[in-house]
Amino acid sequence: MSNTMDIGNRCVDCGRDTSFGSGLFVNRIPADAEYESFYAGEQVFKDGQYREGYLCPDCSGLDCDRCDKMIALDEDITPDVLGFEQDSFSDGAYRVHYECLTADEKEIYDKGRFGQLHPNDVEMYINRLKKTKENEDES
Ligand SMILES: [Zn+2]
Ligand SMILES: [Zn+2]
Repeated sequence: MSNTMDIGNRCVDCGRDTSFGSGLFVNRIPADAEYESFYAGEQVFKDGQYREGYLCPDCSGLDCDRCDKMIALDEDITPDVLGFEQDSFSDGAYRVHYECLTADEKEIYDKGRFGQLHPNDVEMYINRLKKTKENEDES
């Protein structure tokens, strides 16, 4: 491709150097991108600017919405995994660790994993949450 920007060892997202010794070399993955990106409040790449390079571990990792630590790619839990129809948990979190689930959510997740999840379980959980919320609103 003629209009591909070769950015060498730089991260296609944050633009930082990921070469050996940079501290971002381990766990970097080859990547390309053409979306607009920012790092530390500054624009790094423009929308439509096609570049090939790497994705540094900071940018490829997913953050937990409850503890802000990184989650491994196959360990993240999102509401749809639990069978919820809404696209975020009751507190607005979207992607969390198993350890960061509430007791109710863990229960649903565990049941789902062993094929014991009944749609009523999800409904019961959501109703329980609604009640908790109503109580909070009243106080
Ligand atoms: Zn990066
Ligand atoms: Zn977490």
